[in-house]
Amino acid sequence: MLSKKLIKLICIGAISIFTFSSFVGCSSKGTSGTASTKKKVKIGLSIDDLRLERWQHDRDLFTAAAEKLGAEVIVQSANGDDTTQYSQAENLISQGVDVLVIIPHNGQTMAPIVEEAHKSKIKVLAYDRLITNSDLDNYISFDNVKVGELQGKAIVDKVPKGSYFMMGGSPTDNNAKLFRQGQMNVIKPLVDKGDIKIVGDQWAKDWLPEEALKIMENALTANSNKIDAVVASNDSTAGGAIQALASQKLDGKVAISGQDADLAGCQRVVEGKQSMTVYKPIKDLATKAAELSVKMANGEDLATNGTVNNGKKDVKSLLLTPISVTAENMKDTVIKDDFHKLEEVYKNVPKDKWPK
Ligand code: BGC
Repeated sequence: MLSKKLIKLICIGAISIFTFSSFVGCSSKGTSGTASTKKKVKIGLSIDDLRLERWQHDRDLFTAAAEKLGAEVIVQSANGDDTTQYSQAENLISQGVDVLVIIPHNGQTMAPIVEEAHKSKIKVLAYDRLITNSDLDNYISFDNVKVGELQGKAIVDKVPKGSYFMMGGSPTDNNAKLFRQGQMNVIKPLVDKGDIKIVGDQWAKDWLPEEALKIMENALTANSNKIDAVVASNDSTAGGAIQALASQKLDGKVAISGQDADLAGCQRVVEGKQSMTVYKPIKDLATKAAELSVKMANGEDLATNGTVNNGKKDVKSLLLTPISVTAENMKDTVIKDDFHKLEEVYKNVPKDKWPK
């Protein structure tokens, strides 16, 4: 825990940086038209965990988009720790940010920060993951139930009958529950029909691959390796599960889903070790989130497309559309958008098998 004295010092430091950047901002404002009438927006971005590849993309894209709009972004990452994330967010409030953008590790634990921010007239945008039971101002994400449906659909198309293992994400992440809801929308009717048997169901702490590896090893042992399909909720957990499958020479034989179009996930998809991933164009998410944040800071109207109930209120939300990706459409999606380069994704595939 940071001592009060240390927090104070950080704040003083931050305030002097702010004063300096405002000063620098002033001197350049004369050249940038309307900017001269508006003060520079300061955004606090509180990230759950930068250990997973996905969030590094979000950080970079969000910061670039916000800076393009003339805003300044202060980034904090909590390495998956609730107490750290909470005190980092409090610290951002005391640094006088205009808007707080939060990717919560635990959407429930972060709820009181919304009230704290509001006391200082700071609006809060939940980014990708909802903050539940709070007076949250806005939410931006993908249609997460749809993500789960895409995963379920791809796997039942490949394995319409058989033994399924369900590999859930972090139990503290509201999205993990929505992915599961979507997966079951597709799988449950086949379970009821008797075509699919769910032989195990576990949730990987903090979405960590090493957790998924342990879970998968135990599941294979408990079922004498008789598992036909794994419904994994993202690429990091799929990676861990595939490592366990590989040590039993089952990689490529057991269908398995993923999500995020992580580079390693995309490579496994084109190598035939992972059946699919879900590509969520994060550039759109990050760009739109940056636009929303600046508008929220300036008290302007937001272009949202619905509401999501967070247990306390219907939160004005913008939900984007996820895309199912297999080896067939890798080139027309992930690569076309320059999310990854063709040479990187196909690195381990013989060149004559690369798409033209
Ligand atoms: C995100 C996923 C991500 C997971 C682990 C979820 O909330 O929606 O894209 O894979 O967290 O970081």
